[in-house]
Amino acid sequence: MKNMKSTYPGAVLALAVLLCFSPGAVSDGLPDLGDVSQIVLTPLQERQIGQQSMMEIRASKQYLDDPEINDYLNQLGSKLVENSNEPGLGFEFFAINDLSINAFAMPGGFIGVNSGLLLTVQSESELAAVLSHEIAHVTQHHLARMVAGQQNDSLASMVALAAAILAARTSPQVTEAAIASVQARAIQKQLDFTRANEQEADRIGLDILQKSNFNIHAMPEFLDRLQKATRLLDNNAPNYLRTHPITTDRVADIANRVQKQPYRLVPDSLDFQLVRTKLIASQKTAVDAIAYFGDALGSQKHGNPIAQRYGLVGALLRNNQVGRAARELETLRKQAGSAPMSRYDAMIETLAGQVKRAENDSKETLAFYRSAVKSYPQHRALIYDYSDLLMQSGMAEAAAKLLAAQITRHPSDTALYDLQARAYAMQGKMLEQHQAQAYSYAWQGKLYAALEQLELAKQAGGSFYQLSTVESDMRELRAMLDARSKP
Ligand SMILES: [Zn+2]
Repeated sequence: MKNMKSTYPGAVLALAVLLCFSPGAVSDGLPDLGDVSQIVLTPLQERQIGQQSMMEIRASKQYLDDPEINDYLNQLGSKLVENSNEPGLGFEFFAINDLSINAFAMPGGFIGVNSGLLLTVQSESELAAVLSHEIAHVTQHHLARMVAGQQNDSLASMVALAAAILAARTSPQVTEAAIASVQARAIQKQLDFTRANEQEADRIGLDILQKSNFNIHAMPEFLDRLQKATRLLDNNAPNYLRTHPITTDRVADIANRVQKQPYRLVPDSLDFQLVRTKLIASQKTAVDAIAYFGDALGSQKHGNPIAQRYGLVGALLRNNQVGRAARELETLRKQAGSAPMSRYDAMIETLAGQVKRAENDSKETLAFYRSAVKSYPQHRALIYDYSDLLMQSGMAEAAAKLLAAQITRHPSDTALYDLQARAYAMQGKMLEQHQAQAYSYAWQGKLYAALEQLELAKQAGGSFYQLSTVESDMRELRAMLDARSKP
């Protein structure tokens, strides 16, 4: 697919080759699959395995489809990746809606973070420590070696195995079923990282953490707290400790390395606090959230008042108390504007836009978004809202233009394609509409639905060039479907 290929160099062949495991399709650079126990997957294979798992995750309910939380994780993550030994790998970080404490890495640089972990860490350095450790698992190709070491005879079964490993990491309940369908249950024991893997990830992770100017003492502190909590919970060990086995050796090893380093206090970023506030609010009803943040602000004892007021404004808006939300927002912006560590923040401005839209002054709101998008051109939540507003205001062409520019930045963001399809529909551009819808489905792994949309695109008709891109997309999808139906 054109959109998928042109702008995502790390995954150039992602969709095209993803499911094409016939020897002809992947013969280039492919090692002898007769004895994979001796080899490590190629970077392309790793990327494909990760990419396919990602498609399944995107389509699942567990995927936390909040662009602000995911943008934040990618900002933090890319800062860490810059200090790893593979800064150009093209990592993707994403949130999983699961209150158990866990983070997991997939081959190819896809790293998932459970909401439970985001809520449990006590500082941004702790979160950065966990991410650095996961980044190290990827750059050291631990998972890829694990998959390659299973003596499978085809890349297809490796992908299936990777999917099983992923299931084990995200949701232990489905593990058994998933694994039983792939290989003997005996494999399960080998799915956890080895002690050597863990120590290597700790060592390299600490190095990344330090180079990125976070507090490296956060790593042993987090593990220590997790272990203490586990003792109280008896057999209910957090997933994180299950998938990253922790031993006294490991803890001692980390403590040793860290001890020699001075303790440095690194303040949490405002976005870290706002993301957590958002997650806390999402666990509560609007009324409960208003009470919770109101109390927190009233007691003024702990927590960050900017984050607490951000939570309050969001909750008021959810409860349709627009007037009070607008007043609290004014206070929030004054606070944020004068706080030493925070300038105006994209998340606060996104919320401000939502309050403005609720106030229903469309002219002023359009002007607000025009300037906000200029200030924060990368903030997807703002783009979603602005393009929706443009369409509501009858400016579908401007919306389509804005969305097309964003898609080049985020070619796997299905929400952008959905919005784009809507903008094209408003303009009566049927071919483009169905093609955008097809991309949205394809990135969620819904290949039949995508093909159906391309049929509709073809029927709608268009220029010779447009029709030939539809044709070529259809050929790629059919090839993927063919490959999928093979054992
Ligand atoms: Zn680990």
